[in-house]
Amino acid sequence: MRRIKSIFILFMLSLCLFTVSSCRKTEKKEETLTDYMVLVNKQSKLPEDWESRIELVDVYTSLDQTYKVEKKTAEAYEKLRQALYDEHIIIALDSTYRTVTQQQEIWDEFLVEYGEEYTKTYVAVPGTSEHHTGLAVDVKVVKDGVIIDENDDMTAEKELFSKIHAKLAEFGFILRYPVGKEDITGYGAEVWHFRYIDSVEIAKEIMDKGITLEEYLQTKQ
Ligand SMILES: [Zn+2]
Repeated sequence: MRRIKSIFILFMLSLCLFTVSSCRKTEKKEETLTDYMVLVNKQSKLPEDWESRIELVDVYTSLDQTYKVEKKTAEAYEKLRQALYDEHIIIALDSTYRTVTQQQEIWDEFLVEYGEEYTKTYVAVPGTSEHHTGLAVDVKVVKDGVIIDENDDMTAEKELFSKIHAKLAEFGFILRYPVGKEDITGYGAEVWHFRYIDSVEIAKEIMDKGITLEEYLQTKQ
């Protein structure tokens, strides 16, 4: 569940000034075989051997806990976060890598709390979540000293998120579930969900055209 927590502006700013996210290797692989353009959606499941191949690192955030993210994704995210911070926009990680088991727990929680229709719209069936890849990050934002992390509240922050979205491609990220593309992605619009694709050039093409990863890959077939 996302929550809104009111906190003091000065406290927040001091936290953000003094604590910078850092990364640490949690496991070492001889070579990186990550397919950064991998498509994971309701029709396309996570490749079988993905979880054994992915190189994850721990990312420590200034706000609270530690998040697991794919290595290059973590490095790119930190650059994005810093670039936004320089423009006085504060983002923080909210949800990152999830195992299939963790996804099942989320599914079960949403089912109880919101019912089947909402769950099917917003929660991926275990095995089909992009969060299994380690290449997806959900963020929350801090505005006027207040953490905004509820889905509806973030969606309402149109101006703030349009500034954030304008920065994504520069660091190899795309907006994965845009407004108006629900029929293609299979999910409701998520202004907070960013996907790393490891190519600034392709990310710019996708973001400039306002298309989805599905549409981009279709044109390359
Ligand atoms: Zn997400």
